[in-house]
Amino acid sequence: MSDNNTAQTVRVRFAPSPTGPLHIGGVRTALYNYLFARQHGGHMLLRIEDTDQTRFVPGAEQYIIEALDWLGIRFDEGVGIGGEYGPYRQSDRKAMYKPYALQLVESGWAYYAFDTAEELDSRRKAAEAEKKNFQYDARTRMQLRNSLTLSEEETAQLLASGAPYVIRFKFPPHTDIQIHDLIRGDVKVSSDTLDDKVLFKSDGMPTYHLANIVDDHLMRITHVIRGEEWLPSAPLHVMLYRAFGWEDTMPQFAHLPLLLKPDGNGKLSKRDGDRLGFPVFPLQWTDPKSGEVSSGYRESGYFPAAVVNMLALLGWNPGGDEEIMSMDTLIEKFSIQRISKSGAKFDLEKAKWFNHQYLMMTDDAEIARRFMPVLAQHGVSASEEFVVAVCRLMKERVNFVKELWDQTSYFFVAPESYAEAAMKKRWKEDTTALVRDSIPQLEAIQDFTGEAIHDAMQQFCEAHGIGFGPIMIPLRIAIVGDTKGPDLQTLMALLGKEESLRRIRTCVERTKDL
Ligand code: GLU
Repeated sequence: MSDNNTAQTVRVRFAPSPTGPLHIGGVRTALYNYLFARQHGGHMLLRIEDTDQTRFVPGAEQYIIEALDWLGIRFDEGVGIGGEYGPYRQSDRKAMYKPYALQLVESGWAYYAFDTAEELDSRRKAAEAEKKNFQYDARTRMQLRNSLTLSEEETAQLLASGAPYVIRFKFPPHTDIQIHDLIRGDVKVSSDTLDDKVLFKSDGMPTYHLANIVDDHLMRITHVIRGEEWLPSAPLHVMLYRAFGWEDTMPQFAHLPLLLKPDGNGKLSKRDGDRLGFPVFPLQWTDPKSGEVSSGYRESGYFPAAVVNMLALLGWNPGGDEEIMSMDTLIEKFSIQRISKSGAKFDLEKAKWFNHQYLMMTDDAEIARRFMPVLAQHGVSASEEFVVAVCRLMKERVNFVKELWDQTSYFFVAPESYAEAAMKKRWKEDTTALVRDSIPQLEAIQDFTGEAIHDAMQQFCEAHGIGFGPIMIPLRIAIVGDTKGPDLQTLMALLGKEESLRRIRTCVERTKDL
């Protein structure tokens, strides 16, 4: 089997549980589903898996929708969009699941279990005392309180009395379960290692496993592309397809490698982000209970296309050297076969590098549009034309628009003082006089272009029998306040004759008694 075996229309789903903000690992899962669906002209749907009410977090569903929308990952069907296989929120489908659980009880693939939490706990403790693990499975189920050990009447009575129960899957003993994974190949698991997972609870809610399989079936999902953490559940899922008699339309599975910490091993966590100072969530998130704020890629100044590009390459290698790829290129090149089996290390420097590349590709006017509010925060107003020119000249030095201020503030505000180290090293006894002497030369320039400034200064140096350094470096200090900055002629031309000369005169005034 290969992922090209897609004669039927490809239908994939992203099925997050709204238990908090979406981790970037989850974003990557959504992205791979999207790329695969688009490449095959298929459908991608958003299903919200909220059957575990205890883990429900207000605002999480909206967050997921907003985050994926920001990144340009679009759905064809789902929560907030609709579609012919809806509703797409599992809590809105609640009534659908019970008949499926009962079907499995009737066909002998599942059973009622009435054990209380205390009973199970004491079994667990007893097993621990013998240094064993307790598992509800083929070896233990016949010693527990369930419809396999109780008589039919007792079971019926308990159910009629409203006693709390769960419905558990009944794994057949000594059975090899074969899973074909598009990334990992064939994986074989013995049913003897698996526990009889709960499928349904007497509060009327299915568990993740039942709801997920029933919905994938009813929504005609052809490919399940999800995180590696779901691989251990795959044998149960395969067996559920068998138990329901749906094996011939069972989706193909692809379990994606984990996103790993930048340092050491293990899954990338929010704590790593806090510790090393980078976001692990697409958008900023405020925890509704604690009020704790976690940073987001959007608020940190990343371009959505840069985040998409970076995430696509964390775990998938298209071959070749090309790294900068638009969504359309990613759609064209994506292939499940080229997803790696091993985890992908998150690399913060690479993330910044991607953002830099996208910044360089962004129109200068657009960069300026984003930079204007930063300037306003610093109380600066400047013409759009000037800001665009500054952005054009300086963007190559930054990874983020917000970093432009640190690199360009002197374009907008004249220096109030001069860097001490620079002055010590560069300001000689005759420097102020030399700078003063250069003023008429600069004043005489009609058309204040970089070239004209260069020529004028060359003449000045020749006339004084000096090299460029002794005058150009002090002039830079006068204009910038330090020895940093772009090419001085270009900078002066951009500032204009009036402003350049004003700064030079101020400097002469300030340094005349040195
Ligand atoms: N609700 C599961 C999650 O939160 C979905 C897993 C799957 O795709 O089957 O990731």
